[in-house]
Amino acid sequence: MDNVEVISSEVLPPRTVSRARRNQLKHLAKGLCEFCGKPPVTKRHCAKCRERVNRLRREAHRRKHPLKRKAKNMEAEFETLVLRLKRRLEASDLPESNAESLAIYLHHGVIPGSFMRALIENNLVHAAMCADHRNKHYLFEWASFLYNHMPSDAWGSAEKVLAYAKGKQSK
Ligand SMILES: [Zn+2]
Repeated sequence: MDNVEVISSEVLPPRTVSRARRNQLKHLAKGLCEFCGKPPVTKRHCAKCRERVNRLRREAHRRKHPLKRKAKNMEAEFETLVLRLKRRLEASDLPESNAESLAIYLHHGVIPGSFMRALIENNLVHAAMCADHRNKHYLFEWASFLYNHMPSDAWGSAEKVLAYAKGKQSK
């Protein structure tokens, strides 16, 4: 038994607890805020120190996962775009249900189905032929929607649509 103790004290590095850390432990033992010794609102921290700890953790997390953060931003941007398009479609007397495919095109560069594609390619005849029974009666509204609310580089000709989609996809 004696032997074991001697060996372990030789092998283990000397305890290095800084004075600051010792103070923190003292606070914790008394049930106070770890950092400032004021009455805590959570298990270990006062309101002010909790804010600071949370902020530092958030920053560390962002440094560690930059891509996740970017993806989350992209998602939020997309949702905002869908909402904006819905409002504009509604204001133009067009069905909101088109917002999603327009947003996917504008945001991700995925070219939409035949009717919408003909529209953004500025192909009136093809759009009229591809339109379903509802959209058939709204070609003027669609034209005015594109003219007023679509980014000008995103529609106008088949070449422009391809270039826009390519540009978005490579991002
Ligand atoms: Zn505190």
